[in-house]
Amino acid sequence: MKINDFPENVRSHLVPKTQGNLVYRCLGCQKKYGIDRLLYTCPNCHQVLLIDDECFGRLKKIPAKTWHQIFDYRKMLTVPALKGIFRYYEFIGPVLPLSAIVYLGEGNTPVVEANRNLQEKIGLRFYFKNEGQNPSASFKDRGMASALSYFHFLLNTGKVSELLTVCASSGDTSASAALYAAYLSPRVKSAVLLPRGKVTPQQLSQPLGNGATVFEIPGVFDDCMKVVETLVDNYSVALLNSKNAWRLLGQESYSYEIAQDFEYEMEDKVVVVPVGNAGNITAIMNGFLKFYDAGIINALPKIIGVQSSHANPVYKYYSEPIIEKRKFVPVAVKPSVAQAAMIGNPVSMPRVIHLTERYNHSAGQQKVFFVEVTEQAIMDFQLMANRNGHIACTHGGESLAGLVCAMKSGFVEKSDVAILNSTAHVLKFLGFQEMYFTNKFPPDFEIKPNPELINSPIRFEQKNLTRALKPGKPTEGEAFVQFIKRVSDKIASHMKLKRV
Ligand SMILES: *Cc1c(COP(=O)(O)O)cnc(C)c1O
Ligand SMILES: [Zn+2]
Repeated sequence: MKINDFPENVRSHLVPKTQGNLVYRCLGCQKKYGIDRLLYTCPNCHQVLLIDDECFGRLKKIPAKTWHQIFDYRKMLTVPALKGIFRYYEFIGPVLPLSAIVYLGEGNTPVVEANRNLQEKIGLRFYFKNEGQNPSASFKDRGMASALSYFHFLLNTGKVSELLTVCASSGDTSASAALYAAYLSPRVKSAVLLPRGKVTPQQLSQPLGNGATVFEIPGVFDDCMKVVETLVDNYSVALLNSKNAWRLLGQESYSYEIAQDFEYEMEDKVVVVPVGNAGNITAIMNGFLKFYDAGIINALPKIIGVQSSHANPVYKYYSEPIIEKRKFVPVAVKPSVAQAAMIGNPVSMPRVIHLTERYNHSAGQQKVFFVEVTEQAIMDFQLMANRNGHIACTHGGESLAGLVCAMKSGFVEKSDVAILNSTAHVLKFLGFQEMYFTNKFPPDFEIKPNPELINSPIRFEQKNLTRALKPGKPTEGEAFVQFIKRVSDKIASHMKLKRV
C-alpha cells in the first residue's frame, strides 16, 4: 500500500525520520557515553551497559491508539527497512537512517496456538512463538539485525572503514553473526569462537557456509567468552555477543510483536523464555517496560525465566527468597540438551538483576519468576509438543517444561495465557532427538527415553523376494508385482487397515 492510501493521522509517522538521542548508560556508576563509538563495558567501572533514549518522553505524547495504528499499517508498507524488527523503529534504533538498516527477513515470527489435545494435557491456553523461523533459524537474528545496522551506519558515515566482528557462541550467535556480517561483505568480515563438540553439526556448518573464520576452542562457552573479551580489550574488533547493548535493542522486538499479536492486552499473559547468557530475557523485560512506559500496553505480562538444572546460575540466585542474602555464584555446567543455554556465568546477570527489580516495581507486584527443569522434562516436553504439530527445539521444550513447573509453583493461574519461546528451529537439534529415540544419551545427561515418545522407521526386509531390489536397476515384471504386494500387505497389517 502507498503512503497516500493510509489515514491522514498516521501518514506522517509511517516512514520515520531519524530522531531521539541514544546513549550508553552504565548499570554500575550510571555514567553515560555517546553512541558514536563502539563500547561494551563502562570505561570507568567496567560494568555492562544498556542503551537509553534520552528523548523517550516524545514517544509518550503519541496516543496509544495511534501507535497501534502505526504498527498495524507499517505491516502493509513495502519499505524493506520497516518489514522486520524495525517496524518498531522508534523503540529500537531511532538514530539510524533507514538506508543503514539491514533486513534479511528476521522478526515477524508466527505465534501458533497449541491444539486442544496438548492444551488439555498441560491445563492452560498457550502458544509457541517460533523463533526458529528467523533467517538463521534462531532469535539471535533480531539482535544481529540491530547490531549490524548500527555497524552499517558507522561504515556509511565514515566513522569506521572496515570491521572484523567476533563472537563466542553456543552455536546460534555465530550462525547469525556470520550470516549478517556476510551480507555487509567485503567491508565486514567475521570470526567466531565455538566450544569444540558443544554445538550441533548444523550450527557448525552455518558460519562455515557464510564464510566466517571459525575457531573451535576446547572447553565450554564460558571459556570462549573469556577469550573473546580479551580480544576485544586488546585489539580493534567489533563484539557481537549480547554484551554489546546494540544486540539487545533488536531482541526487544520479540516483546513488541507479542504485544501487537495479542492486541496489546497483556494483563493475563505469561511470557516463558529459556535463559542462558541472559541477553534475551533482558531484552524481553526491557521491551515490555518501554511499551508500558509509553502507554502502548496498560499492563506488564508475567515473565518466566527457565533454566536446566545442568546450567542454572540465574535460577539459583533467585531461589534465595531474602533479597539482601542473594549472591551471584557462577556454576560449572553439565551437559544439556538445551545446549545453546549451557552457560554457567551469564554476561547479562547485572542487567537481569537491575531489570527484574524495575519490572516488579513498575508492575506493583512480583511478575518475574525463575524456574528450573530437568533434562528429562526438556526432552519429554519437546517431543510431546512436536507430536502435536509444533517445531519446538529443545529450548522450546524447556519453555514448556518451565510453564508446567511455574503452574505447579503457583506463579501461573489457570486463566492465564502463555506464550512460549521456541528459540531455535527443531532441525538444529536433531542429534538429541536421535539419541532419545535410540536410547544413546551418555549417562551425564540423565535422560531415559519414555517408550511412548520413541519413534523409529520400520524397515522392510527383502529376504523373501525372488529377486531383491537393487539401486539403479529398475525391477520389472513378476518380481516387481511381488515386491509391491509384499510391501503393501506389510503396511496394511502393521497399520491394521480395513479393506474397502
Ligand atoms: C542463545 C540461545 C538461548 C539463550 O539465550 P540468552 O540470551 O543467551 O539467554 C536459548 N536458546 C537458543 C536456541 C539460543 O540460541
Ligand atoms: Zn560505570
